[in-house]
Amino acid sequence: MSSTASGVVPPRDDIALMAGYHSPQIDVEVRLNTNESPLPPPAAFSEAVAAAAASVEWNRYPDRRATELRSRIAARHGVVPDQVFAANGSNEVLQCLLLAYGGADRSAAVFEPSYALHPHLARVTGTAVVEAERDRDFDLDPEVAVALIDSTRPAVTFLCSPNNPSGTVSSRSVMETLLSAAGSAGGLLCVDEAYAEFAPHSALDFIDDETPLAVTRTYSKTWAMAGARLGYLIGPRWLVAELEKVALPYHLDALKQAVGIAALDYVDEMQARVDAIVAERERLTAAMAETAVQVWPSGSNFVLFRPLGLDGTQVWQQLVDRSVLVRNCSSWPRLNGCLRVTVGTRPENDRFLAALAGILP
Ligand SMILES: *Cc1c(COP(=O)(O)O)cnc(C)c1O
Repeated sequence: MSSTASGVVPPRDDIALMAGYHSPQIDVEVRLNTNESPLPPPAAFSEAVAAAAASVEWNRYPDRRATELRSRIAARHGVVPDQVFAANGSNEVLQCLLLAYGGADRSAAVFEPSYALHPHLARVTGTAVVEAERDRDFDLDPEVAVALIDSTRPAVTFLCSPNNPSGTVSSRSVMETLLSAAGSAGGLLCVDEAYAEFAPHSALDFIDDETPLAVTRTYSKTWAMAGARLGYLIGPRWLVAELEKVALPYHLDALKQAVGIAALDYVDEMQARVDAIVAERERLTAAMAETAVQVWPSGSNFVLFRPLGLDGTQVWQQLVDRSVLVRNCSSWPRLNGCLRVTVGTRPENDRFLAALAGILP
């Protein structure tokens, strides 16, 4: 398909070559493909949102600094509000980070396979991408990572932990090694923690105003609020101040701010759900390990697996035929034959396991 009408300026060369970000949806009974929460937020939350909507001053611009939202997020993580930057999903947070710190003559480092949006947003912002490979188990070899950072001196190094799509959690020592390598190279380390609540530890422990570290979080997964588009970053004050320069003025609408605040009244309910999903993840992983698939341990709300001796896309299609949708990663680089299943409710996971059992030899 041509992207340019005749006589009209074409898009920037690097944009014209891009494929864009795609996450196909299919109408099925059991949707386990995008790592969403299987349950909506608590009913009391929805009531609080309705009340908040009724009191929005729609004729006024919202609080540009999102003062209360940032204070509440800061309190939750034991930092100060000036160390919190919020935006429309953590994807917009990442975009702002690259707008401020990427760009011409700068690079961003990624460790593949990982979250496709990191290199995508880097390219969109004109930032070169440098990459190294994770090992066979999708873990990060610190020597390989440090060699990449030392030789390319990236402005931003991305570490996704737990890693999407493998579920791999980087150890605290790997995080420390990357942090010191990124710092020595004069760059920033960004740890994407979209799934941190499902994992045993977080890079938040290393946050302070002297450390070039940013940690991103989202309301989309744990908080069952993918529909709200809200995410945030915790980092040094000076970094947050730069991000505020590149974000559009009033980018967080008034209702979204209220929604983000209301959600934080339900921490206990959310923790109970996280505990249930972690228990289901372990059950799912153990059950799959008994079948003809290779399965990787996950610290997230999804599990990566590879059916043995079968074509990944065929297995994916046979699951769809049984009205179960998982993510087909089988043609992604370094993920030959792999599929990724989001942990759902117990009945959903049982549907998936039964469907898989009907397909595997
Ligand atoms: C889902 C996901 C996000 C979330 O993005 P939002 O824009 O907050 O919905 C970010 N990073 C990773 C690795 C993810 O898998």
